[in-house]
Formats: sequence, structure tokens, C-alpha cells
Amino acid sequence: MKITRVSTAATTGHCMHLWVKIETDAGVTGLGECVHGGMQAIAIIQSLANDLAGRDPFAVDAIFEDLRRRYVFDGGTGGALVTALTGIEIALWDLKGKALGVPVYELLGGKFRDRIRVYADCEVDPAMNADQVRQVVDGVVAEGFTALKIDVDGGGRADKDRFNFTADQYEHDRMVRLIEMTCEAAGPDVSVAVDVHTRLDVPSAVRLARDCEPFQLMWLEEPVPPEKIDAMREITRATSTPICAGENLYLRYGFRDLIEKQAVNIVMPDIPKCGGLSECRKIANLAEMYYMPFAPHNVASPIGTMASCHVCATVPNFLVLEFHWLHRDYWTTITTQGTDIIQDGHIALSDRPGIGLELNEEVARQHQYPGTTWFD
Ligand code: MG
Repeated sequence: MKITRVSTAATTGHCMHLWVKIETDAGVTGLGECVHGGMQAIAIIQSLANDLAGRDPFAVDAIFEDLRRRYVFDGGTGGALVTALTGIEIALWDLKGKALGVPVYELLGGKFRDRIRVYADCEVDPAMNADQVRQVVDGVVAEGFTALKIDVDGGGRADKDRFNFTADQYEHDRMVRLIEMTCEAAGPDVSVAVDVHTRLDVPSAVRLARDCEPFQLMWLEEPVPPEKIDAMREITRATSTPICAGENLYLRYGFRDLIEKQAVNIVMPDIPKCGGLSECRKIANLAEMYYMPFAPHNVASPIGTMASCHVCATVPNFLVLEFHWLHRDYWTTITTQGTDIIQDGHIALSDRPGIGLELNEEVARQHQYPGTTWFD
């Protein structure tokens, strides 16, 4: 079997959802999704189409590593090139599974679990009062989720310098109060994660993490930027609140220091962005050696989300997967399955070949990303 054609399409959603279609001379086709690669990733995939033509599509890891090393000067350690290769990699896995008639998880070593626990990124706003917070949390719990995440950064004083990392008393108290209101509304049976989007300095982060200890958070996310390994480690060492990071890191090399120095308690690679299924399985395996849970970041459509589920199913240390499309009505209609893949806060792995979901192109095209082509 040989690759004959590689093409792209893109839709709007949480960000740009970039679709990669790989066709073969055997008539088998694979579809991949990658996110946060932007227009650059489209241009990269289109420019790599000639490199892919004529190759054996089953050599998934070798194709990825060959192209990454060949174009290493163009961003082979992180950014749009890695994301473009990720879209290609996921399409190759889908193609290989379909050609062999097996789900991708069977090709990754088989399942540790049949369904994947999902948490909802929900829209609790810093300006909300307790009743408004409870309304949002009740809505998420009514949909069956047993875990959720809120953002607590933003909403500082109007005159606050947005480049300054220090949380003053007002901002600290506001964040703690918002977390307290959310945890009270969620109750003991719903896990709560809190994201601060790398906005704090070390003393502000330690203070927040310690004041969150009574709430038993699922985690506090990226209190400082994840590339500041020693700063992250200092926070992790200073609190019993679990610290989680990694949504903007790439490849296993990007995670190595974070894991080996045990600078966090939980890692959160974005699978359809940072290297794909093989790479993220390796990241999970490295984390497992330090008894560290794996809780992938995820803003993808149902297809990229399901691709992530195949990795989550095949590693022992999976904790929970993100869901970030709470109020997009085409979450259920953008696949030909036409139903919500999330039931009772979980996604079940199917025994369908490949990723196991197909894009409904008629629906997807209604959300075509401006200025992009459609599988031309
Ligand atoms: Mg985050």
C-alpha cells in the first residue's frame, strides 16, 4: 500500500480544527485532526504532501521521525511543524486501523479501560456571584460530568499591569472566593480543577495553592509558565494541592525535565497538538515511571478527542481527559455518528476500525475556517 494523496480542510470551533486526509492506492483513507497549528500548519502539511506520496502508510513512527528530523531547522522541536506532523500522524493511525480492521487502541498495546472519564471546562466567570456559579456547576453536573475545571485568572483590578505576575490581596482573595464557591456548588462527589494560565509568580502561586488545600482540588493548573521547571518544582514541593502543567509543551523532550525533576504532580500534554498518539503514549509512560497521572489537555472536536481517548485507554496512569466544547451545538452533528460521544461524563471506546468516527463534511463545511481550502 502506498500514500497517493494528502489534503487539508479547516473548521472553526474552540480554535482552528485542521483536518488531514491521507489517501492510498488501496482505496483506504485516514483522517486526522490537529489543533493550534494555525495557517502555518496548513502550509506545512501541503508542502509535505510530496514527501509523503509513495510511502508506506503503516510506517507511522518512521514517517513522523523522518520528517521531523529532515525539517528540524524549520521547527522540529516544537510549534507548527510538530503540530502539522501530529495531524499527519493521527491520520496515519486511522488509516492503519481501517486497513487492518482494528481500532487504534489495539495497535497501541490494547486497553487498560473501556471508557474514558472526561471533565468539562466550564464557564465560571470571575465576576459571578455564588448563585451564578451554582447555576453553571449544576448545569455541568446535570449533564453527567463528575469533574470540571474553572479559570480564575483575569478579573483583577482594572488598573492592574497585565504583565505583572504578582497577585495582590484583592486578586488573591477573589480567586480563593471563586474556588470556594465552585467547590461548595460541586459538592464532594465532583472533582474541581483550577487554571491560572501561568499568570503568577512563585510566592503568589504558593499562597494560592496552600489556601486551596482545604478544597481538595483535582489540581491547580500552570500557576507559573511550564518552562520554568525549578519555579514549578518549588510550588509543587510547597503544597499538598496537586500541580498540573504541560498544555503548551511539545514532544517527549518538552516534558522530560518536568517529569524527571518531578516539578509537577500531573502532566497534561495536548495530544492532537504536541506530537500525536505514539509520542503522547511515550510521555505517559515516562510519567508512569514517577507514579505521575496523565490528564491530557484537549480542545479538539469529537474526532481529535476520540483520537486522544485511544491513548488514554492504553496507558495505566490515565486520570481524566478535557472536554472544551460545552456550548457548541455541532459537537454532536460534526460526526456521521450524529450523537454525543460523551455519556455520563465518559467516552466509551468502540470496536470500530481506526479512530472510530467519521467527519460529517456537510455539517463541518458550514463551519469552514475563513481563508482555507476544503480537501483540494
Ligand atoms: Mg490550561
